[in-house]
Amino acid sequence: MLKVYSSINLFDAYIVRDTLNDVGISCFICNEHVSGALGELPYTESWPQVWITQNLHFDRARALAMEFEKNSNTGSVLYCKPCNEFGSPGFECCWKCGLDLQPDEG
Ligand SMILES: [Zn+2]
Repeated sequence: MLKVYSSINLFDAYIVRDTLNDVGISCFICNEHVSGALGELPYTESWPQVWITQNLHFDRARALAMEFEKNSNTGSVLYCKPCNEFGSPGFECCWKCGLDLQPDEG
């Protein structure tokens, strides 16, 4: 099993899952019910994630996920490079250091 996608939006994870299912790639969503529960896990680790069950599909699944990511990138999730932290949607400053957030460029 391999993770091919993660998003702060569960809705986005659903879209990626459906996209993969449509082309016959078996996958499932992890963290479906812990979205927003900030605990001991690193921030992004608590996001909904899409995992594929068969590793041989990884390249194709990742390409589809990347394509979705690119098309859906409206800048809603911003990133603080010095802290290596993602901001919350709607916030333009880093919660940690207060710097302006930048779009995540990967
Ligand atoms: Zn910061």
